Order: sequence, then C-alpha cells, then structure tokens
Amino acid sequence: MIHPRLFLKPGREKSLLRRHPWIFSGAVERIEGEVEAGAEILVADAKGKILAVAGYSPASQIVARVWSFDPDEKIDAAFFRKRIAAAVDYRRRLGLMDVEGGCRLIFSEGDALPGVVADRYGEFAVVQFLSAPAERCREIVADELTALGLKGVYERSDASIRRKEGLPERSGVMRGAEPPAEITVTEAGDIFAVDVRRGQKTGFYFDLRDARQLVRRLAPGKRVLNAFSYTGAFGVAAMKAGATGVVNIDSSRPALRAAERNYELNGLAAPECVCADVFDELRRRVASGEKYDLVILDPPKLVASQRDLVRGCRAYQDLARLGFMLTSPGGFMLNFSCSGLMTMELLEKVTASAALEAGVAPVLAGTVRQAADHPVALAVPEGAYLKGRLNFIGI
Ligand code: SAH
Repeated sequence: MIHPRLFLKPGREKSLLRRHPWIFSGAVERIEGEVEAGAEILVADAKGKILAVAGYSPASQIVARVWSFDPDEKIDAAFFRKRIAAAVDYRRRLGLMDVEGGCRLIFSEGDALPGVVADRYGEFAVVQFLSAPAERCREIVADELTALGLKGVYERSDASIRRKEGLPERSGVMRGAEPPAEITVTEAGDIFAVDVRRGQKTGFYFDLRDARQLVRRLAPGKRVLNAFSYTGAFGVAAMKAGATGVVNIDSSRPALRAAERNYELNGLAAPECVCADVFDELRRRVASGEKYDLVILDPPKLVASQRDLVRGCRAYQDLARLGFMLTSPGGFMLNFSCSGLMTMELLEKVTASAALEAGVAPVLAGTVRQAADHPVALAVPEGAYLKGRLNFIGI
C-alpha cells in the first residue's frame, strides 16, 4: 500500500528533527494521495526525505501529529498497546497504582499518544479522545485499560476542543460497568468523591497532587482563602492538615455541593462556601479589609489562544493583585496558571507587576508544577501547562 504523503515547506522540518510531534497547517507545502481524518500519513521534508509517520487531522490547525519518528513503524494495534503499556508502567513505577487512589494513566503527548487522556479513579477509568488521530486507538485503549483489571471504562470525549477537530462530543460507558455517581479516591489520607459522569473534565484534578501536598505543609494554624475551589480539594487538604478555616469560592453550585460532600467524607464540619464570581468576591473582600494567611488562586485556563494572551495576562495580574491585597503580613499567596501559553516567566512578570500594584514586596518561596503523572516530554515543552508560584509576604 502506498501511503499518502505530506510535504513540508523548505526549512519547516526543523521542529520535527528535534522530535516535536506537531505539524502546523502553515508548514505544509502539499499533500499527495487520499487521506482520511485520523489516518496515517508520512511526513517528508521539502526534498522528499521521509521523517515520520503521523496521524492526519484536517480540521485542526495542527494538521498532523507524529506517532513515530521511525517512518517504517507500523501504526497498528501492537504499536498502541506498547505505548499504553509504557504509560501504565510509568505510573506503577511512580507508586500511583494503589486501588484506593487514582492518577492520570495516559497524558497525550507526554505519553507519546497525542490527544489521548485516561484517568484512573480507583477501579474505573475515564478516557478522552481529543483529536482525530486519537480516535484511531479508541477501542484499543478501552481494551487495554479493561485488561488492567478495572471494572469499567467510561468515555468523556465531551470537551469543546473536539469541535476544533471536527469531531462530535461523545460520552458514555465504553467497557464494563457504569461508574457509580460517586467514586472515592484517597490521596495522602484525604478522601475525595468524584462524579466522573458530570464533573469537570474527567472529574478531578490529579495534576494538583503536588500542589495539595504543598498546601498540606503550609496549612497548620492558617486561615485559608481557596478561590476557584471546584470541589474543595485544597480546602479538604488544608483542613485535614490543621488549617483553622478555609473559605471556598467558586461560581459552580454543583462543585460547591460536591465540596460539602468531600468535607463530610473526611469528617470535617460543613465547609464555608461562597458561590460567586471570584473577581467580584475578592474585590468585595478587599474592600472590607479581610486578610488570610494563605490565599490560593487556581483559575481555569484564562489564555486559550495567542489572541487571548494580553487579555489573559491582565486577568492573571488582576487576580494576583487582589490575592496579594488579601494576604496578611507573614502570609502566603499561591497563584496558578493552567494555560499552556502562559509560561512560568510570563506568570512571574505578571505576578511581580501585581505585587507592585498591591504595594507589597513578596519573595518567591517556591514553585509547583503538574504532578508527575502528567509528564512533559522534553521535546514538547508545551506540555508543561500547569505552574504555580508560592509568594511570601514578610511581616
Ligand atoms: N482548584 C480546583 C480546580 C479549579 S478548576 C481543585 O483543586 O480541584 C476551576 C474552577 O473555577 C471551576 O470549578 C470553575 O467552576 C471555577 N470558575 C471559573 N470561572 C470562575 C469565576 N469567574 N468565578 C468563580 N469560579 C470560577
């Protein structure tokens, strides 16, 4: 069989030679042969030298995602099985495969499976296929996860990003049992209830595992403000670790109801929850002169594309300024960005400007990144989407 070929414009093979797996539409000179969305395509430089085999994504700006830099590699079931096994093996070696807990099992480019995401919640897996090529291994992923001995595999390919790929949103049971409305996962002795069918993304943010550990370390004796709390995971971690109180703020009522359940599961008194827009609520609290010993700001992705960068930076800066104004002398302000386009350097600049505006002179007490089950391939630094900065304001 003659494979269809994608020829790059002269000079546009550079990133590929550095093993970066994305081919942007602007780098393509021409495509020879018939190729369907999600199917294999050979990628050649302008002179015709074949460099890689990729999955074709015609509706996306990233028109092809490399599966293998060995152009002879066959992209068949055995190929995907090997990649899935390697991803699971890594989590095992990280010590994240305990049945009571959970972790991300497959993280897209970080596991050389572009567009494929799988999270394990106890004995259930939740999967997302976020690109046309990812659809190719859909059944294989479901089979392999089932073969791990899990009770069920549930699909949550209902992310809006699928529309950019020209794919319909889809969710439902793929294998085994329907997941219960509440699955509990244990992390460092804290219990979290997850609704994998209706929760955000796949239900819970395992990427914040290290951040929660940082919060546990800082929490004893502190009064905490947890902005963008979602289901109150930071709140539970802080209270269990000895915080004197946590105010959780989120605009989602279901998320705050889930926070109440999480507190209850951990034997904590009912949480203090405020259902409001964080920007408004923080302004109100600044106006009434409130102060906290630890302020956590974990907004959703505020920069989705290069076009949003300036506006997004302003929003991050605004939040950080309000966060600093709410931090007591001797207190910490932990601000996050989960936007891939917002680098740690950019977040640093924005946070420094916010400190100036707030009239404080913080020091950097540490940084935190996405947990290790969200690996970043060195060739694909864009995978490092989550960054947190721990700022300390002296007395
Ligand atoms: N820190 C959370 C995850 C945050 S996800 C955790 O530990 O699990 C981002 C959250 O921000 C979502 O729950 C979403 O409902 C909320 N959110 C988004 N925009 C908001 C806004 N303007 N005001 C309040 N909450 C908002």
